[in-house]
Amino acid sequence: MQGSGGRKTQRRPSPRLFQFRAVAFGDMQRALERLFASGAQVILYESGIECGRRSYQRHMKGKVHAKAVTSALRRLKLMERWGKFKIDLEKGVILVKDSFEADGYGGSDVPVCHFMRGYLTGFFTEYLKKEVKIVEEQCEAQGKPYCLFRIVEKKPE
Ligand SMILES: [Zn+2]
Repeated sequence: MQGSGGRKTQRRPSPRLFQFRAVAFGDMQRALERLFASGAQVILYESGIECGRRSYQRHMKGKVHAKAVTSALRRLKLMERWGKFKIDLEKGVILVKDSFEADGYGGSDVPVCHFMRGYLTGFFTEYLKKEVKIVEEQCEAQGKPYCLFRIVEKKPE
């Protein structure tokens, strides 16, 4: 239909997706650590926050109930192959099995899923309409059976 003066479809183009191997993400994380030491965590975390906020706004429109939001998030992340999420908002815990980030990183003495922690922070800050802080208490990279994130409300400063 190009140049014919015919009707063009007015649909919004879908966002570009591309595939990124988990191991490539791990390589990127290690490179950031070599260059910026612990600053790497902040870079990944902060990048994740924006991703989580956008993801909430894009995918969760009209969903109010916690169950609808958490199961939509679980399905989305499963489809995107981030891992298998199990979310209990009453307890404020999120379990992730097969985290792409831990998988790509390999072994570590400390939790490594900083991008995912940022993503969850951005996502739940949008959903709960208040600033939250999320900590990763244990990580598959440490040889644990799953990553465990805990939602902690940010205290007003
Ligand atoms: Zn982890």
